[in-house]
Amino acid sequence: MARDFSWIRPEPWGIHVVPADCWIDPSRPVDRALVTHGHSDHARGGHGETVATPETLAIMKLRYATSEGAVPVAYHETLSLRGGVSATYIPAGHVLGSAQILLEHAGERIIVTGDFKRRADPTCPPFEVTPCDVLITEATFGLPVFRHPPVEHEIAKLLSALAASPERCVLVGAYALGKAQRLIAELRRAGHLEPIYMHGAMERMCRLYEELGVDLGELRLVGDVAKAELAGHIVVAPPSALNDRWSRRLPDPITAMASGWMRVRQRARQRMVELPLVISDHADWDELTQTVIDVNPAETWITHGREEAMLRWCQLNQRKARALALVGYEDEDD
Ligand SMILES: [Zn+2]
Ligand SMILES: [Zn+2]
Repeated sequence: MARDFSWIRPEPWGIHVVPADCWIDPSRPVDRALVTHGHSDHARGGHGETVATPETLAIMKLRYATSEGAVPVAYHETLSLRGGVSATYIPAGHVLGSAQILLEHAGERIIVTGDFKRRADPTCPPFEVTPCDVLITEATFGLPVFRHPPVEHEIAKLLSALAASPERCVLVGAYALGKAQRLIAELRRAGHLEPIYMHGAMERMCRLYEELGVDLGELRLVGDVAKAELAGHIVVAPPSALNDRWSRRLPDPITAMASGWMRVRQRARQRMVELPLVISDHADWDELTQTVIDVNPAETWITHGREEAMLRWCQLNQRKARALALVGYEDEDD
């Protein structure tokens, strides 16, 4: 029997698992959604039923103030869906609670990676290589120009900028879910035990991470202290706060941003970033191609980013591949 994998159907607003009549990371409300992780381009509110890890469900509850229809599934637990489909959630190493979803039906195995990375992250379990027939992979940084340096290197840059100007503070723009907490945890790992100051918009997510067992050390709110007290300290804020009025309350901040896009000078200039930190929660080019090699699927379906270069790489390496046209999945700040 020819394998056409027609039981799984990519549509512009999500991936349809036909026999189970459910959708993976749908961008519009559906009856049954399987959600890979809590970022807003994947996890939207308003579904009848939402299957996700307990951590992702907690993040969604914080964001959408409702947990109606929540179906928790632990990593490696296999869930039977209708139509003879089963789903297993496997760590993706992207943010707390993030999962790849392994779907099995009629002897075929399809993995949807969601967003993922291969680097160690102190805030979530690492990506696990799992054999399958079809690998549906993200390609946010799917160009050879994207090669993320070791995170220790970027953290050292941040700490030396801080030490060089004790009368200033370093203001770091970081995505409020995942990046901010990873940055803080990496600073702790590097031995920076001083209080870290955060923008009010980060507080609830940081507290949730701590409730879920991720130690972030001493965090204080910028709004609770006088300007002078912030000198010589690190302040973490959402990227949108970097150039707005809010930052005037900081003592002569050195503006930094932690993002894979900081590899692109023009993006750093646009945000008036003095200290670009190339720290990403997505796989870079080498991690993307290495993952295809490691998983070694019969087919690779590429989505969610710069598909063309990955498609060409697969063809050059005699690997069957296709680009999917999903829309609305882009992590601008990541
Ligand atoms: Zn994401
Ligand atoms: Zn994404």
